[in-house]
Amino acid sequence: MIIDLISDTVTRPTKGMLDAMMTAKVGDDVFEMDPTVNALQVKAAKMFGMEAALFFPSGTMANQTAIKIHTNPGDKLFCDKYAHIYNYESGGVAFNSGVTCKLIDGKRGMFTANQLAETAAGNPEIYLPYSKLVCIENTTNKGGGACWDYSELEKIQKITKQKDLAYHLDGARLFNALVAKNENPKQYGKLFDTISICLSKGLGAPVGSLLLGSKKNITYALRLRKLLGGGMRQVGFLAAAGIYALDNHIERLVEDHQKAKEITEVLATCNYITKIEPVETNILIFYVDDKIGETNFINKMAEKNILLSPMGDGKIRIVTHLDYTDKMHETLLKELNNF
Ligand SMILES: *Cc1c(COP(=O)(O)O)cnc(C)c1O
Repeated sequence: MIIDLISDTVTRPTKGMLDAMMTAKVGDDVFEMDPTVNALQVKAAKMFGMEAALFFPSGTMANQTAIKIHTNPGDKLFCDKYAHIYNYESGGVAFNSGVTCKLIDGKRGMFTANQLAETAAGNPEIYLPYSKLVCIENTTNKGGGACWDYSELEKIQKITKQKDLAYHLDGARLFNALVAKNENPKQYGKLFDTISICLSKGLGAPVGSLLLGSKKNITYALRLRKLLGGGMRQVGFLAAAGIYALDNHIERLVEDHQKAKEITEVLATCNYITKIEPVETNILIFYVDDKIGETNFINKMAEKNILLSPMGDGKIRIVTHLDYTDKMHETLLKELNNF
């Protein structure tokens, strides 16, 4: 038994999901003739109360497309210093859109409306990059699965309206936030111009993300996706997994959150742990003392078939997910206690 807690992307399709995939009706999606892809897109757009949605091979491509939609080369966007679009998308913001990031020094990947107002203050002088876009991430990845306060997101939206800025949400793990905060997708649909969501993270699909937005933006996104090489053919087999995930794997995220909390409670009693970040969803970040050391701890756990990921500076990350069973949970808690 290998207990893989490296990410919530390591899950395998369940039996039900595989059945849905194997029986999917498919067609050529480049001609927009795959009925299952079309059904997934309509379903997701409805969920969020948005006009349209587009299926993507990855969250990165969905985010990069959104950034391209809202900007021109030379422009700037605002995001937190921890943002995935800035840190983990291979410099795509610069490569694909020719855009610079104005980083905001937030907490756990989240900044305040006041911080944005300060950063975005002033007039558009000719020597300044045009400000075009604000990007939010919910839950925050590098911030340890933290969830934004909805009221803060509303305040930020006000600023985007005043300043004529587009508003994009990187919602790779938005469903974790919705479940944790008891919120619904429509609340987010009415706030943002574009939203990306991943089906391949907590929701347990093998591949796939969606970009949501207005008809106009999604029509442009369709062209950009083709340009980026993301036009896929009989991809309904994967869209079927996405539909299954939206129907069956959202409410159960509470189980992942509960397990993450229980791991934290055990870690809090271990004398070799120096600090644990607050846990709100399925990501847990903690620090081991210098005597044990991050790499050594990870190697020792790997010898016991428990896989964890290093984040540098003594930080270690655990992500709970669909394939992390009760039995694995029991074993992990025991091993942490005995370490
Ligand atoms: C995983 C992730 C992405 C990108 O998704 P991929 O499908 O891996 O390209 C984007 N944003 C956040 C916050 C993520 O965690």
